[in-house]
Amino acid sequence: MSVNDEIKNLRLLVEKHNKLYHQDDAPEISDEEYDALYQRLQLLEKHKGNIDTTSPTAKVGSKPKRAFEKHSHLKPMLSLNNVFNEEEFLKFDERVTKWTGHSLTEYSVEPKFDGLGISISYEDGVLNKAVTRGDGQTGEVVTENVLTIKKIPTTLKHNPPKLLEIRGEIFFRLNDFQKLNQTIKNSGGKAFVSPRNAAAGTMRNLDPKIVKDRPLDVFFYGIGGQSEDFSCKSQSEFIEFLQKNNLPVNDKIQFGVASSIPNAVKAVLDSRDDLDYEIDGAVVKVNDFANQEKLGAVSKAPRWAVAWKFPSSEKYTKVNEVLFSVGRTGVVTPFAQIEPVLLAGANISNVSLHNMDELDRLDIKINDTVLVKRAGDVIPQITKVNVDVRDGSEKNVNVPNHCPSCGNVLKTEGPFLRCDNGMKCPAQLFGFFEHFVSRKAMNIEGLGYKINKHLINLGYVKEAADLFKLRKYEAELKSLEGFGEKSIDNLFESIEASKAPSLEMFINSLGIPEVGETTASALARFFKTFDKLKKATYEDLMQMDNIGGVVAQNIVDFFMRDPVGVKALQEVLEIKNYEVAADAHLDNLKIVITGSFQEFSRDELKQIIKNKGGVPSASISSKTDYLILGENPGSKLKKAQEFGVKLITEEKLKDFLKI
Ligand SMILES: [Zn+2]
Repeated sequence: MSVNDEIKNLRLLVEKHNKLYHQDDAPEISDEEYDALYQRLQLLEKHKGNIDTTSPTAKVGSKPKRAFEKHSHLKPMLSLNNVFNEEEFLKFDERVTKWTGHSLTEYSVEPKFDGLGISISYEDGVLNKAVTRGDGQTGEVVTENVLTIKKIPTTLKHNPPKLLEIRGEIFFRLNDFQKLNQTIKNSGGKAFVSPRNAAAGTMRNLDPKIVKDRPLDVFFYGIGGQSEDFSCKSQSEFIEFLQKNNLPVNDKIQFGVASSIPNAVKAVLDSRDDLDYEIDGAVVKVNDFANQEKLGAVSKAPRWAVAWKFPSSEKYTKVNEVLFSVGRTGVVTPFAQIEPVLLAGANISNVSLHNMDELDRLDIKINDTVLVKRAGDVIPQITKVNVDVRDGSEKNVNVPNHCPSCGNVLKTEGPFLRCDNGMKCPAQLFGFFEHFVSRKAMNIEGLGYKINKHLINLGYVKEAADLFKLRKYEAELKSLEGFGEKSIDNLFESIEASKAPSLEMFINSLGIPEVGETTASALARFFKTFDKLKKATYEDLMQMDNIGGVVAQNIVDFFMRDPVGVKALQEVLEIKNYEVAADAHLDNLKIVITGSFQEFSRDELKQIIKNKGGVPSASISSKTDYLILGENPGSKLKKAQEFGVKLITEEKLKDFLKI
């Protein structure tokens, strides 16, 4: 796909998710996933100079629904640029210093509420209009609905200017949200997935009578526009003005210079669990309005404020059941089915408990109240059981003696339970098969969850090699419901095309415990042919630089036990030998990649390095030869400098790779 095509696709995707989030209140992806899409689009546009005023990166949010009257904001309701850590915040502060010409700028720090943005105008101190954020330029007039919130004064008594537009966030407190959902469920309706969705859905309900019965709340924090007679000179003065006029203000707002901000943000983060409303970060603003003016805004975000996003979120919920699932290597993993919670934008209903030691450590019981945490894109975890709220209804977890999939007696290996029935265990066969056909393994298109299940349940695939003998079931497959003849033909084609895998892909496809992509490439490079690898002894394997004792033993055991039917596979496949390309000038160099790049994705870079004989590695050690340095490098840069690893910047990258 060309970069311009990718830009086009990304624009459509971002538009779609904008609409789902802002207009339909039904997000399908997490905020992190959205941020990733958005940032990639921004990057590509910048790189290609492909700037377009219709691109979602040039707009804020998405167009409002039609049923309400529309109204243009005095000044657009902008979104904020994000920072995620101290380093990024200090860069922001540097820019502020540069633009204002003042050092030691004072900032305000406020919790970033996860609700619905609102703009309310007062004319001569009388509430005139309330408008939702909409697309940032134009919102919907929801005055009647807003007036149901009794905390919002209809008149300002303390020094009101001729005209003042103030901005805030409408939200549900968590208790009120749960009660509301219960009421909706009791009357047979569909519950809201999150307090934010509930606030948005309620505020844009066309029937103010319904809105009146729902206890919405509000905090105010910003100015949208004002007449010249308004006297506030800073955010701190403005907050005072709001308080004097009985406009609800959050009590966690702090002020300070840059060096004190990380701690102030941490204080907001630490208070998060005790709050009865949802926040997803902190907003840091330049306090002085004259300086804000000087800094202005670029396209859709002000230069005088940033959102400091929190990396994770956690919530208490109830454990409904603890079950055990069988993975592709036979390890039986306990997991908790929980009362679903929305964490960092994703709805979580299952949480892995990893192994028996973890189960013991947590001493978790069914019906327990537990703290679930999700950090960034890391899988969710249970970090704590709240034993104080146990009421006697808790039940012990039943640890199985037999495999839940095949009934085989389970073995205990350290902290793990294992079913050693191999491919005779349906769960293991299925897990293996999904891995075997995946993109970085045999790369067979046209297979997915549904057809994989069929192939296994119908007994067409009992071991890996059976996949290459599917032709004999052609008629049966074509008559399967839900699979067209064409898709089965395509599947056959794709299977055919995969019959001569590269050595590294084939090794990766076998699913040897702890042998992933990187180790598979290293093995291919070292042994050159599959037969040599198969015959390798523990000592042979230990000759390699980056293979430890456990992995070496796994490999030896794997070929001895042959759980996936390697022999049969060798009969149907033509596994290529490893060949060093003529231009493999990176021969065996260990190369780590960090940050992002204008011209390459990290996967592309890894592939190029491999093609040139190099070894892409995940972490820096004394053995690392080079660090390829992209934009926004993480902690790896510092580590590389400690080890004296040579650095390659994007400027020099093409020369280095000889492309
Ligand atoms: Zn089993």
